[in-house]
Amino acid sequence: MEKNFLPYSRQDISEEDIQSVNNVLRSEFLTQGNVHKEFENAIAAKVKSKYCVSFNSATSALHIACLALGLRKGDILWTTPTTFVASANCAIYCGAEIDFVDIDLKTGLMSVELLEAKLCEASKIGKLPKIIIPVHLAGSSCDMPSINNLSKKYGFRIIEDASHAIGGLCNGFSVGSCAYSDITVFSLHPVKIITSAEGGLATTNSKSISDLMRTLSNHGIIKDKNNFVGDNFESWRYEQQSLGFNYRLSDVHAALGISQLERLDFFIKKRNEIANTYKKELNHLPLKFLQPYDFVKSTYHLFIVKLDKSNKEIHENIFNYLRSKGIGVQLHYLPVHLQPFYLNMGFSKGLFPNSENYAISSFSLPIFTSITNEDIRRVVYEMSNALKFKNNIY
Ligand SMILES: *Cc1c(COP(=O)(O)O)cnc(C)c1O
Repeated sequence: MEKNFLPYSRQDISEEDIQSVNNVLRSEFLTQGNVHKEFENAIAAKVKSKYCVSFNSATSALHIACLALGLRKGDILWTTPTTFVASANCAIYCGAEIDFVDIDLKTGLMSVELLEAKLCEASKIGKLPKIIIPVHLAGSSCDMPSINNLSKKYGFRIIEDASHAIGGLCNGFSVGSCAYSDITVFSLHPVKIITSAEGGLATTNSKSISDLMRTLSNHGIIKDKNNFVGDNFESWRYEQQSLGFNYRLSDVHAALGISQLERLDFFIKKRNEIANTYKKELNHLPLKFLQPYDFVKSTYHLFIVKLDKSNKEIHENIFNYLRSKGIGVQLHYLPVHLQPFYLNMGFSKGLFPNSENYAISSFSLPIFTSITNEDIRRVVYEMSNALKFKNNIY
């Protein structure tokens, strides 16, 4: 990689983080000690949920969240096309049907109007979804109060894909408090807000959902003898009562997460400052910013700008120009329904025009806690050159 290449995201690891991991490496238990439990408790306290279960990725957490809500063959799950593939794949893992609700172009988030219209149609033909997964793109919460109201009217469950949004707020509630959902999932991948290298979390306020998620993340094994179905007198006994997986977070990973969590508030403050600097510095260019709702505090996991018009060629040219200058712009995301796997399932171009237009007009600019004002000015300078270059050619 070029030395002065600016990635769209980068982890922030401190000496304390390294020490925290070292301590676990020198301890007796690398995976089944107390550290992952301490981490879960610290997360639940931070986001104000009753329960938290840790996983080896957000992808595993989404899979188990769907199973815990009873998703199976014959059921339907809806999410948005503008997301990482994992938000949709979890439905397929469970043998369920997947469908999408298009985004609103101002926010980049699942459109409540389109959701309501689609629910109304689906209820007429008896094809209502069992679960809806709103995705908090870039760290801005979806309109959860409205989606929650619709869930009461149409009887679906809600899993928030908050992979981008730990530390964010919606209507005064912490994202993860599950004030408007059954389960919230966070990712701890290195590009996300805080990291455990690989890792994921699921929060909930339901004890039964929490217990089920924990059991399913550990092979379906139960160790509490009060819950045994067989003879409970053997001290060595454990029971597998259902089919689960090995999706546990190790204590080594949890040690990194626990240490990173201490700097979460600082990370969010810093990312909001960077976003404000970008908004000021980019103000003179013909670009739009994604608009969080006024009742939401974004984490700015991503800083996304959009061209005035959607044009595949212009978009690609600007992309290539910026990449050639060492600016690691990225697209979040190619709409999931246009991935070959989903095209093979019968989805096609034109089904979700907002997501498709968004994908040929948007760029994620570099944003990470150690980015300097000089880096930001360099991004802005190259972006303004790229737009000039575009005007010269077209
Ligand atoms: C990163 C991400 C995931 C998956 O997270 P992993 O921890 O890498 O499995 C899921 N959904 C969204 C929206 C993401 O950005």
